[in-house]
Amino acid sequence: MSNPSNGNRNTDPNRGKQKLPFFVIAAICIGLFFISGQMMNKLLGAEQKEVTYDVFLQAVEDQQVYEVELAYETISYTRKDDDQKNRTIYYTTPLPYVELTNLVPALRNGEAIFSGKLTEQSTFMYLLQGLILPLGFLGITMLLMRNIAKKGGGFGGIGSVGKSKAKVYMEKETGVTFRDVAGQDEAKESLVEIIDFLHNPQKYTAIGAKLPKGALLVGSPGTGKTLLAKAVAGEAHVPFFSISGSDFVEMFVGVGASRVRDLFKEAAKVAPAIIFIDEIDAIGRSRDSRLGGNDEREQTLNQLLAEIDGFDSSKGVVILAATNRPEVLDKALLRAGRFDRRIIVDRPNLEGRYQTLIVHTRNIHLAEDVDLKKLAQATAGAVGADLANLVNEAALRAVRMGRKAVNQEDLLVSFETVIAGTEKKGTVLTDIEKRIVAYHEVGHALVAALRKHTQPVSKITIVPHTSGALGYTMQMPEEEKFLNSKEELLIQLQTLLGGRAAEQTVFGIQTTGAANDIQRATELARRMVTQLGMSDKIGLMSLATTQSEYLDGQSYMDCAQSTAAEADQEIRSILTQCYDQAKTLLTEKRELLDEIALYLLQKETITGDELMAYVNADSQRLTEGESENG
Ligand code: ADP
Ligand code: ZN
Repeated sequence: MSNPSNGNRNTDPNRGKQKLPFFVIAAICIGLFFISGQMMNKLLGAEQKEVTYDVFLQAVEDQQVYEVELAYETISYTRKDDDQKNRTIYYTTPLPYVELTNLVPALRNGEAIFSGKLTEQSTFMYLLQGLILPLGFLGITMLLMRNIAKKGGGFGGIGSVGKSKAKVYMEKETGVTFRDVAGQDEAKESLVEIIDFLHNPQKYTAIGAKLPKGALLVGSPGTGKTLLAKAVAGEAHVPFFSISGSDFVEMFVGVGASRVRDLFKEAAKVAPAIIFIDEIDAIGRSRDSRLGGNDEREQTLNQLLAEIDGFDSSKGVVILAATNRPEVLDKALLRAGRFDRRIIVDRPNLEGRYQTLIVHTRNIHLAEDVDLKKLAQATAGAVGADLANLVNEAALRAVRMGRKAVNQEDLLVSFETVIAGTEKKGTVLTDIEKRIVAYHEVGHALVAALRKHTQPVSKITIVPHTSGALGYTMQMPEEEKFLNSKEELLIQLQTLLGGRAAEQTVFGIQTTGAANDIQRATELARRMVTQLGMSDKIGLMSLATTQSEYLDGQSYMDCAQSTAAEADQEIRSILTQCYDQAKTLLTEKRELLDEIALYLLQKETITGDELMAYVNADSQRLTEGESENG
């Protein structure tokens, strides 16, 4: 019964056939149940006639009974005066509470041949109850289970227990291409190789190259992860299998695992193909959760791992998975050879939002006054799904207003509706918040640039980020470095505290945005004091031991309490000193700070090069000024 797991289950034409055996068995059982002994006789051919009890008694009195069978529920008899070869069988129901034994003398008198018998029904019922019913039941149950396991629930009609929501969808051609995905250039770049591989696996296998089996798309909801996966399938012209991790959660034990198995089997049949697992965190969550295991999820995850390891990537099956909670994923999933590629699908910046709006207004009639650039500026924090939604809302509004084209007002008003509706999901900063975030991020970067005299960051953005950070500074990829001097670590501390220092210098306020910075700075300072012997006061003494280095790197103090208190004091004084230094520096360079922050506010994302251009121009001005003076 190979039932391909493709297509939408709800319209699977094979469903009816699967139900047939169940109904046949049920009908037979019910039928047998109702067939009584007389009916059996009837089936066997003899003529039968039901009579009332008094007719039977009369026959006894008349001594006309030839042969009689006495049972609790039926008395059947033949008459002497009937045709000998073809006697009619008469039957009647004995009266309740009448002792059949009273009949015996009378029957003796009439020289009847009589016998007692458990009724046919009883024997039959015994058989039915003892054997057929349980067997039938077992059969039905097995049939049900098999169907559920095979298809994740084929019996939509039989109670909700067997209903499963896991659905595999297959699209032969998604029809989505990279043209439909606005922005996300970095993500697209990473996926181009996969497309090429799907097109032409031989090219890679000929050299002996192994392509990653899977890639993990990480990003906030609605940023276009599904869309990207579909676009990969569309660009490569391969079938697209998709399933959502959360669908597995409610299923019977074993069902998810068998579903995963089927999924890979079907995909391998039509390879090259893409398998897309949405919300993989629902099954891929770390297995050592404190709340106790979830058998179903673990089995499904194990099966998934086994399938990923088991299939031959040269066949051209690529697994893409999406999540917005990469931190909860089981380490086993992220191991080399599994989802070892991570593709960040960021919230779109200004340009990205502009492009997204263009994509989604392709088929919309726009009025002359529409300015998508302005709309993009107004929608900081919105993701692709918000923008798609916004455009559609605007179109609906235009129709409601009886207009033939969407105008700017429609778009702006709809934005508010969309955002109000998705307040929790999308973070949209107010103007003042945006300014604070901009200064905070530039504060970090500027301190680093001025102290280290090298480009400290590759990118700064004030587009709210997946991680929950409102702004985001992408550090330069560190050159491989095994040793750090105390001076370098102090600069690192100043850099970490530069965000708060900028807030304080410019706005005179302290915000919650610096919480993470402070935590990291404190950790670093604590290490310097308690483990690295970098504090003059404490000296060359180790006060802490690192535990489980490969897990969380936590350490515990193993020194006298008074020493620990002393260490805390020392940590505080280092931090305060670094903070003051950062603040002094930023106050000195206030003009430069303003310049860069304003530029960042305008562009939302700036590169490290752009930042350094400002810094270098500033130091140029300084040296020129000095040489003029001197
Ligand atoms: P995710 O899987 O990340 O939650 P989806 O891919 O389901 O998000 O996106 C939902 C919808 O939002 C898409 O169908 C598309 O209409 C729109 N969308 C999201 N990101 C983009 C984008 N970068 N370009 C164009 N449309 C997008
Ligand atoms: Zn910060």
